[in-house]
Amino acid sequence: MIVVLKHNVQKEKRDQLVDWLQDQGLTVHVSQGDYQTVLGLVGDTSRVDMALIESLNIVDSVKRITDPFKKSNRKFHPDDTIVEVGDVKVGKGNFVVIAGPCSVETEEQIVTVAKAVKAAGADMLRGGAFKPRTSPYDFQGLRAEGLRLLEIAKAETGLPLVTECMGVDDLPLFENVDVIQIGARNMQNYELLKAVGKLDKPILLKRGLANTLKELLMSAEYIMAGGNEKVILCERGIRTFDDYTRNTLDLAAVSMLRELTHLPIIVDPSHATGIARLVPPMAMAATASGCDGLIIEVHNDPMHALCDGAQSLRPDEFDKLMGRVKRIRDIITEE
Ligand code: PEP
Ligand code: MN
Repeated sequence: MIVVLKHNVQKEKRDQLVDWLQDQGLTVHVSQGDYQTVLGLVGDTSRVDMALIESLNIVDSVKRITDPFKKSNRKFHPDDTIVEVGDVKVGKGNFVVIAGPCSVETEEQIVTVAKAVKAAGADMLRGGAFKPRTSPYDFQGLRAEGLRLLEIAKAETGLPLVTECMGVDDLPLFENVDVIQIGARNMQNYELLKAVGKLDKPILLKRGLANTLKELLMSAEYIMAGGNEKVILCERGIRTFDDYTRNTLDLAAVSMLRELTHLPIIVDPSHATGIARLVPPMAMAATASGCDGLIIEVHNDPMHALCDGAQSLRPDEFDKLMGRVKRIRDIITEE
């Protein structure tokens, strides 16, 4: 349920109403926008007397929200959310590029790529230490050692780190990681979602291989319900019948999610296509769609990459793409 307050309501009156609602066992999410204050009520609202609340002179309107996702719902929070990662902001017009290899392989590799993507203008460094691989015989990542190498790359470049956690037991190792990625395969690992929901750290939540937008938002809801509202959503392609590309990039998802949620939305054209030459055009299309950022795989030697070399850009290709992305951003943000 949402309660929209009248313009210029005194804070004291607002707080009295919030206290009263909390006394009824509800969680109240206050969204103080530039023009409107919205109280989002979560919990058993079936016994709340809507007519009574509506009759209060500080209340403009009361509506029931039938969508199962509440905290991530734009109706609860009309303004775009900005997720802050150190000095880097994501969302509400703040566009970010996260770049780096699929997996961390060696210190030289991750530091070389980190320096290259930083020079090209990337805002954060990606690199998998714990890798979810389809085959148990493929490279599984350097695990804790990979996280240590990422920290070296961060110390050398200042780039915040984005890396995937696959299990609750590994979470203590991620203390120095700036953004924890929940990968597509773990989008519905509810125990993991609940665990990262207790952290005070941004979470990059990737859409599952065959999941609807509602399911993606319900997974975001798991994280937010635990108190962590710093969630960034990521469209990374979904499974369809075509197999020329690794997945099918669902760009309409960006516009649809924009209507449904206030959370930032980024796009991964690397896993969406699986083919390096398709990454620049899809990155540009994603940028033009108005998403809040991109996550792109970049490798200094894609031919010898231990994971996803076929979809990795070389640093020079990434640099060229960054120039194009910037020009598209300039066009779509000009008044
Ligand atoms: C990744 O980003 O390294 C990754 C494995 O992506 P996804 O979970 O989208 O497949
Ligand atoms: Mn990859």
